[in-house]
Amino acid sequence: MEKTIAAIATGSAQGGIGVIRLSGCDAIETAARIFKSADGAPLTEVGGYRAKFGRIESGGRMIDEAVALVFRAPKSYTGEDVVELSVHGGLFVVQKTLEAALEAGAAPAEPGEFTKRAFLNGKMDLTRAEGVAEVISANGDAALRASVELLEGALSRNIDEALQSLLDCSALMGAWVDYPDEEIPELSEDELRERLEAVRGRLQTLLDGYENGQIITQGVDTAIAGKPNAGKSTLMNLLSGRERSIVTDIEGTTRDIVEGSVRLGDIVLRLSDTAGIRRGTDEVERIGIERTFKKLETAQLIIAVFDLSRPLDENDLRLIDFCRGRRALAVVNKTDLAGGERLCAVEKAFCHTVYISAKRRESLDALQEAVYETLGAHELDPAVPLLANARQKSCCQNALEYTCEALDALAAGMTFDAINVMTDSAADELLALTGKKASEEVVNNIFSKFCVGK
Ligand code: GDP
Repeated sequence: MEKTIAAIATGSAQGGIGVIRLSGCDAIETAARIFKSADGAPLTEVGGYRAKFGRIESGGRMIDEAVALVFRAPKSYTGEDVVELSVHGGLFVVQKTLEAALEAGAAPAEPGEFTKRAFLNGKMDLTRAEGVAEVISANGDAALRASVELLEGALSRNIDEALQSLLDCSALMGAWVDYPDEEIPELSEDELRERLEAVRGRLQTLLDGYENGQIITQGVDTAIAGKPNAGKSTLMNLLSGRERSIVTDIEGTTRDIVEGSVRLGDIVLRLSDTAGIRRGTDEVERIGIERTFKKLETAQLIIAVFDLSRPLDENDLRLIDFCRGRRALAVVNKTDLAGGERLCAVEKAFCHTVYISAKRRESLDALQEAVYETLGAHELDPAVPLLANARQKSCCQNALEYTCEALDALAAGMTFDAINVMTDSAADELLALTGKKASEEVVNNIFSKFCVGK
């Protein structure tokens, strides 16, 4: 077991209780130096999954009342001896308790070090550890459900099945190559192809779902665009339910990008209200418009706003043109100022056009529906195994490429030992995905993104 580490496990805000967690070979002895139980029993004699009420003492003075919860290795989050000290949740008292634990011999924990130890002690694979981080950062119901699936091992089970298939293929081909004279069950080319095709299908399905997974867990990078005074800021404020953007009658008021996140049903939109699109007049405005187009280039969803009270002009046409072939929907605003006219040019160019009055706060439901349809969000299912991040995607992509190469080699009539090199490489990528063969650098990088205390 490793040296004992300690950190504050709860957030950096005042709360009902604050928890200091210790983990390591002498976590219980270290905690016992600062925790005195009310009944006089030493903490070192307390069994696993047991709690004691008492007080935290340091330098001969009481810091706070506390409850000490003891976990004995290997039955703990990290797989090591763990003590969790719960004190009253004031920032100062929690900090003092941590300092006392450090003075008693613990070392301060690095970000994610508790979860890293859980991984190194075989309590969870890398995809599950990444699930822990996703659960912590989940910002909506669907995101939470997807993260819990990851944490529960839905992805690692899926990957393990693909891996097992590849290893079986490798083993059979290897046996054929190494022991041609032995009585080894024959592996036909058809059977090998079938197995490899099944692996390819499984990996392809995971990769196809990546974008949807990102929408569920990370939200959608959304840009609201349109000419000045179309009502972009009013729409942004309406969606976010508060005044974020400056709304005035003076054209070009939003000169830069204003950002905020809103939840539409199950989906989080990361919104930015961009500077109005029009032929730039002054320098500041020109820079704002350039930034707008850059933002639009990278946005995952564009909400293009048009003003029904004014005829379409060259700025509108430029935006319509820009949105062609991109994930975009049209919002025709200010229906309250017009008598039921329609903008046919807009309707023709976009798959979804919603007529609203942002000022009167009308037609938000229709807008939500259009956003869902444009994103294909009705089909998002957080219960299917999802790749959670770029690292997992890259491993899966590489494994798929090697599997496809193996299939090509088989079709070209290459020998089993040549094909075996490719299936082995594919298997290695999947082993890296779940962490069974990940480099120390990759592992350190993953855990460095965690918060301290997790
Ligand atoms: P932006 O330049 O596109 O961000 O436009 P703003 O949101 O600042 O709105 C410009 C003006 O249009 C403001 O005076 C708004 O109050 C007004 N406005 C926005 N939406 C509507 C609407 O639905 N109906 C009417 N009548 N006025 C609106």
